[in-house]
Order: sequence, then structure tokens, then C-alpha cells
Amino acid sequence: MQGVLSGDRAILGRAITLVESTRPADQELAEQILEACLPHTGNSIRVGITGIPGAGKSTLIEVLGMLLIREHSKTVAVLAVDPSSQISGGSILGDKTRMASLAASDKAFIRPSPSRGSLGGVAQRTREAMLLCEAAGYGTIIVETVGVGQSEVAVHDMVDFFLLLMLPGAGDELQGMKRGVMELADLVAINKADVNPAAAARARTEAENALHYFPALPTGWTARAVTCSALSGQGIAELWNDVLEHQKRTLGNGSFTRVRREQAIKWMNDIIQQGLANHFRSHAATRAGLVGLEKDVMEGRTTSFRAARTLLQLYIDPNFVS
Ligand code: GDP
Repeated sequence: MQGVLSGDRAILGRAITLVESTRPADQELAEQILEACLPHTGNSIRVGITGIPGAGKSTLIEVLGMLLIREHSKTVAVLAVDPSSQISGGSILGDKTRMASLAASDKAFIRPSPSRGSLGGVAQRTREAMLLCEAAGYGTIIVETVGVGQSEVAVHDMVDFFLLLMLPGAGDELQGMKRGVMELADLVAINKADVNPAAAARARTEAENALHYFPALPTGWTARAVTCSALSGQGIAELWNDVLEHQKRTLGNGSFTRVRREQAIKWMNDIIQQGLANHFRSHAATRAGLVGLEKDVMEGRTTSFRAARTLLQLYIDPNFVS
């Protein structure tokens, strides 16, 4: 624990490995370390970054991270949530080779996505890794995720500021699945503005217009759209100023603390749900009943509703006879 607090990166890495482990002995130790680190957490700015593959997330994180280290004397931890890495066999998010300068800096800590488990499990481990990084003194935590599926919501629920990175000319994205993600964004940044500045400006206006139609954010912050180029660095300092302005505003109106508390409650509920689900599946009576009832549901002999109710009854009372 002292090793984590002293900011030793090798020890921090080992502590995160313990958090990610599924061995009961490791989990026990991880819990003890987390508990001891808890009083030293919560002092960072937590920023989530999402966008489709190729949007420029890692390029942006590299440039932004180096800006924070060089010009703001900050330390930066980069974490990732990528449940798909389970299928692809290795995470591309938080990959050090894509962030060469940051990876070489002693002011940065980069950790790829845990490669095992459901989204819920991956998100939980990333939240815990975030706390360990905070205890180790990292003042800025960046959590990266790919803009596909539910992982954005999971990341949004663990950060203070949520940035959506988009590309110019990706107009359909506004209508399709990006809509849901855009609704969560504090800032929409149209990247690669160096390639075609006019197209980027148009995309920015489009995004800005779309943002007006969404319900107000619960923090009282009005979401913005900007253009930037992670490659040339244009707009990156301004983007960080938006993060700082958001922090100042939400600290001022009390929503910063309120949202963090709500996130902590949500986090607790997530852990309870996962714990219950795991226990349910490993429970002898429900496990025995599950196979047969799944077959019955599949072949139409019973309804999903009735089968679920029977299994829940079996969970509560293993002697239950349906
Ligand atoms: P990610 O998959 O979202 O992490 O995207 P990457 O950061 O790996 O970027 C994908 C490609 O786009 C790389 O070849 C980058 O060099 C390039 N790229 C990223 N940002 C910019 C930018 O602002 N302008 C240009 N022209 N290329 C960029």
C-alpha cells in the first residue's frame, strides 16, 4: 500500500494486476489495498474520451497528456475500457506504442484495458484502477473507450468530463448510434480539422445544432462543439481550457460533488448486481435448474417469465418445487 502511495509505478502496476485478478486470494488482498488507498483518492480530474476507431483518440491523448505534463506540471494516468478485447484477444486501447512520448515520460502511467470479463467487470476493474492511480498521486485520469455499444455509458458514469471525438463528414453518425453518445457529451471535438478545415467547421456547426436538441445536462453545463487537430496540436490547449472551465463551473454550482456521489452509489449498486449475478450462477440449486429451464424456454415448454421466477425461487429456497 505504501508503495502505491509513494507513486512507485511498478508497484502501482502490480496493485492493478491484483485488482484485475480473479483469484480469491488476490481479490482479498486487492480489496485491502483499495480500502487503505481510499482516503487518498478523489483528488484528480477524471476525463473520459470516446470515438470510433481511427477518430484520433490515442493521438489526442498523447498530445494532451504531454501538454499537461509540460505546461501544467501535471501527472497523467491513461486507462481504457474495451470489453471487445476479450474477443479480439488483446486490447488496442491504452496501447503504449500508440502513445510513445507519454509512455516514455515518468509523469505518465498507461494501462491497457483489462482483457477479461464482461463490460460490467471491465468497468469495475477500471474504476478500481482509477482509484489506485489517484492514490499514487496522478492528478489527471484519462479513460479511453471505443465508441461502440455500451462502454461509453460505463465510462461516462466514472468520469467528471466526457469528450466525444468525431470526424468531419461523418454526418450519418449524428442520426445513428452516435446520438445516444452525443447526449452524454460535455464536449464534442471534430478532429482532423487540418485535413479539410471547411468540412470540419461544417461538422462543428452540425454538432452544435444537434446538441441544442438534447435535454440539459444534469450538471448545468452547456455542451459545446469545437474543432481540433490532434496531429498539429491545433485546438488542444483550448480543449483543455474547456475541461477546466467545466470543472470550475460544476464545483461552483455543487454538481461536481453531487455527480461524484451519485456515481459512487451507482458503482456500489453495480457491484451488488454483479455479485448477485455471480452468486446466482454459482448457486447449486439454480445451476442445476438453469440447464433444464433454458431448454424448456428455448423449446417453448415454458415462458421466460415463469422460468425466471422458478429459478429465483430456487435461489431463495433450494427446496422449492415448482
Ligand atoms: P484512435 O483509433 O481513435 O485511437 O485513432 P488514432 O489516434 O490511432 O489515429 C488514427 C489515425 O489518424 C492515425 O494514423 C493518426 O496519425 C491519424 N490522426 C489522428 N489525429 C489526426 C489529426 O488531427 N489529423 C490528421 N491528419 N490525422 C490524424
